[in-house]
Amino acid sequence: MEKETTSLSFMRILMEGIKEMVFVVKVNEAESFTYDFFNQAVLEKTGLTPDSIGKPFNEVCSEEMATFLYEKYKEVIETKKKTSYEDSFYSKENRLLYSETLLTPLYDETGKCTHIVSLVKDITNEKRAKLESAEIHDRLAESSARYQSLFDSNASAIFTLDFNGRIIGGNSASLELSGYVREELLEENFVRFVSVEDQNRAKEHFQLSKLGEMRDERLQLANKSGQLISCLVKFIPINVKGIITGFYMSTKDMTELDEISGLYKAGEENFQIIAENVHDVIVLMDQHRQYLYVSPSSENIFGFKADAIVQKEAYYQIHADDIKRVGSSFDHAAKNSITFREQLRLMHKNRGWIWTEVAGTPVLGKDNKFNHMVIVARDISIQKEYENQLKHFAYIDTLTELPNRRYFQEYATKRLEMDKESREKLAVLILDIDDFKQINDQWGHEVGDAVIQEFGHRLNRCMYGENIAARLGGDEFIVLLTEAESKEKVTKITDVIYQAMKTPINVQELFFEISISMGITMTPEEGVSISTMMKRADLAMYKAKRQEKNSFHVSPA
Ligand code: GH3
Ligand code: MG
Repeated sequence: MEKETTSLSFMRILMEGIKEMVFVVKVNEAESFTYDFFNQAVLEKTGLTPDSIGKPFNEVCSEEMATFLYEKYKEVIETKKKTSYEDSFYSKENRLLYSETLLTPLYDETGKCTHIVSLVKDITNEKRAKLESAEIHDRLAESSARYQSLFDSNASAIFTLDFNGRIIGGNSASLELSGYVREELLEENFVRFVSVEDQNRAKEHFQLSKLGEMRDERLQLANKSGQLISCLVKFIPINVKGIITGFYMSTKDMTELDEISGLYKAGEENFQIIAENVHDVIVLMDQHRQYLYVSPSSENIFGFKADAIVQKEAYYQIHADDIKRVGSSFDHAAKNSITFREQLRLMHKNRGWIWTEVAGTPVLGKDNKFNHMVIVARDISIQKEYENQLKHFAYIDTLTELPNRRYFQEYATKRLEMDKESREKLAVLILDIDDFKQINDQWGHEVGDAVIQEFGHRLNRCMYGENIAARLGGDEFIVLLTEAESKEKVTKITDVIYQAMKTPINVQELFFEISISMGITMTPEEGVSISTMMKRADLAMYKAKRQEKNSFHVSPA
C-alpha cells in the first residue's frame, strides 16, 4: 500500500504551475466522486469550467465518460494502488488528443482515501509519431512488396539506370532479354542496347521522362546476338526523399503480342476462328497459295514444325488424289467469298496419310477483294476409321462375311451400266438350300448358322474374275456372273457350284448333305434393271423348287 501524505494546499499551488492537466477528485461517502480542484491546463484544454467544482462526473461529462471514470476511480479505491490508462478525447478546438492518465490515491491520517489526484499527460505528439511511423512502415512494406513483385516479375525486364542513363542493375528478366550477364551491362549507357535507328528516339524519350513526362515508347533493343527485339519501354523515376536519383527502365518484349495482333488486324474473323479451334491447325494462305502462317499445333497433329511447312510449296502435304478437288474448292471459295469444307488426306511426318477435314474462310482486303484464306484443319482419322467400319457393316453379311444384298445391288448396277457388250454378258443366279428348316428344327439355330457359313465359303470359292457371290438372307444366296455370254458357260459354273456342295457339310460331329435349287437369268435386254434380273432369277428358282429340288431353271425359258 502506498501513502501520499503531502499537504493538499501546498500541492494545489504547485499544480497550477504545471502544463499537464491535474484534477483533484474528492472521494465522498458511498463511493461517490466530485471534482475538488483542477488546474489552469484543464480549463484551457477541456470543457470544464470553475462551475464544475463540487460536481460529480455525470454532471459535467457524457454518460459514457462518467461511467468510464467512475470505474477507474473505484478501481483505485478498491486496490489502493495507483493506476494509469490511455485515453483519447476531442479538445475545445475539436482536435483529437491522446492522453495518459495516472490516478494516485491520497489518504488522511486514519488511512482513509479522501482524494484521488489525476495527472493527465498529453501524449498526442508521441502517439501521433508512433502511429505515423507504423503507417509509414506499413506503406513502406507495401510499396517494397509492390516494387519487389514488379522487379521480379518475369513478364517485364527491368533495368535500373542512374540519372544519366547508365545501367546500375537489372532483374533476371532483363538479363534474359538482353542475353548479357550482369557485368556486361553494368556501367553501360542503356542507349548502347537500343537498335541504331531507334537510338535518337530513345535518348529523347529518356530526356522527356527526366522532365516528368512518362509514357510508353516502342523501341527496338538489340540483344547480345544482334537480334532486334521490339519492346515497350517506360522509364519510372526512382524517388529518394523527393529527389530523383535514377530510373527503372521497364522493358516489355512485344514480339509475341505483335504476332497475335498482326493476325488480329488481318480480320476479326481470323481471331474468332483461331480462338474457337485452339487444338486444330490454323493455316493462313494468300491468293498465290503461299503459306502466311501455320499454327504451332501443326507439329502435334502432323509431325511437321510450323516453320517447316510455311516454307514449303502450297498443297505439298496433300494426297495427290485430293489436290485437284481441294484446289478447286479453294479457288471457288476465294472467288465467291464463301467458305469451303473438304475432307482430304494430309501427310503426317511419320504416320503416313491422315484423314483431315479442312474448313476455309476467305478474308477480304480493303478493296473487298480476296486477300487470304483462313484454313482450319482437323484430324478426322478416327471418325474416318469409324465411318469405314460402318460402311463395312453396311455392305457385309456378318454371318458369312460375304457381301450383302445392298453391296450386290450396287456392284451389279455398276456392271450393268457399263458398255452394252459387257451388260449382255451378265447373268444372275439365285441359290436356295433345299429343306434347310429341318436342320434348324432338328439341330438348332447355331448348327444351322454353321451350315450357312460353310455354304457361303464354298460358294465364294467358286467365284473368279469379277464374279461375286452375296448372301441375300436366310439360306438364300445370289451370284453375279460377268462373263456369261452363253448357257454353256453358265452351266459350267453351276456344275462347279453343285460339285462344291456335294461333299457333306461337317458341323461338330454331324454331316449334312445339302442340295440347292437355282434360278438363273441372263443376257438382259436394254433397260432391264438389276432388281428385275433379281426378280426373274427368284421366279426361276421357285420354278426349279416346284418342279424338282436340287435343280436349276433358267429364265426366261
Ligand atoms: P425350301 O426347301 O423351300 O427352301 O425350304 P427351307 O426349309 O429351306 O425354307 P426356306 O428356304 O423357305 O427358309 C429358310 C429358313 O432359314 C427360314 C428360317 O427359319 C431359316 N433362317 C433364316 N435366316 C437364318 C439364319 O440366319 N440362321 C439360321 N440358322 N436359320 C435361318
Ligand atoms: Mg431353302
